[in-house]
Amino acid sequence: MSSPLAKRQRTEDASTTRSSVWYKDGSIILQAADTQFRVHWGVPSQHSSFFRDLEDLPQPPDQPAVDGCVIVELQDSAVDVEHLLKALYDPTFLSQTALPLAVVGALIRLGHKYDFKNLLDSAVARLTSQNPATLEEFDALFVIKSKPTPIIIYPGYSLGMLALAREKNIGLALPFAFYLASGGNMEQFLQAVRRKDEAIPSLSLDDICRCFIGRQRLVTKQFQPGYTLGWLREWPHPPADCNNPAKCTAKRKSKFHSYMDANCVQPFLEGSQADIWKGRFCAACYEHIIKSVTAGRKKMWEELLVIFDLPPWDQLKNDL
Ligand SMILES: [Zn+2]
Repeated sequence: MSSPLAKRQRTEDASTTRSSVWYKDGSIILQAADTQFRVHWGVPSQHSSFFRDLEDLPQPPDQPAVDGCVIVELQDSAVDVEHLLKALYDPTFLSQTALPLAVVGALIRLGHKYDFKNLLDSAVARLTSQNPATLEEFDALFVIKSKPTPIIIYPGYSLGMLALAREKNIGLALPFAFYLASGGNMEQFLQAVRRKDEAIPSLSLDDICRCFIGRQRLVTKQFQPGYTLGWLREWPHPPADCNNPAKCTAKRKSKFHSYMDANCVQPFLEGSQADIWKGRFCAACYEHIIKSVTAGRKKMWEELLVIFDLPPWDQLKNDL
């Protein structure tokens, strides 16, 4: 493995910026781009086999330093390094319920590169918990309705998660990440593409197309017989014990048109959304609807990979 670090001898340089992460009693200076961080050897070494090995390497006796500290140049973004160091130094940092996606991305990138295993695992867990690999895990997200997400939601959140899952080959998160990115407002998606928003440049044209084609397939499929909303479109065998066929049929047709008008993507009817139909249909029809939705969303989930032209689940791995 080639070293991701390039140790460089240099003295204090006016072109560098001193980060706020600067401990006067630090023993090493990490430099990312033009930003320097003064920290203690023991801190990254305690959590990273890479830094442990690096610390054990004999230092050349004539190696210049800044304030007596060896400079280790990192080929990473200064922002990522700052997030990593905050996670290492501040015991409350990782215990925050929700972290910005930029922090999660930094911990995955640098955690993987330098073998900060615990930081990497916790960051991957945040990403995968928001991008479940099973329908049961997906449903568990909605058990506690007010439960905060482990990653702070912002307007480009779903695209950002997809870009990160792609960048770091977190394969098990990909299908749902594609679903989330495809299920939102596609006009805003296109505007983000035009503006080249932060996450967009790392998404390939293939993946952008995958989102748009996948969305079209989801919209079409969700209304087919046997799928989640198929009962809205066709109801070949209404329950024999329906106590008001005229009212239930009119309600069903009206709901179908409202879904079509909204052009919405609802293949999994998150949480208890199907509950809203309780009382709007007779009890027999409601029972029929719940059965249809339950069977249909399972079928949709099974076809999620085909919809986004992804390989089977057993070939999708978190290949970090
Ligand atoms: Zn009915």
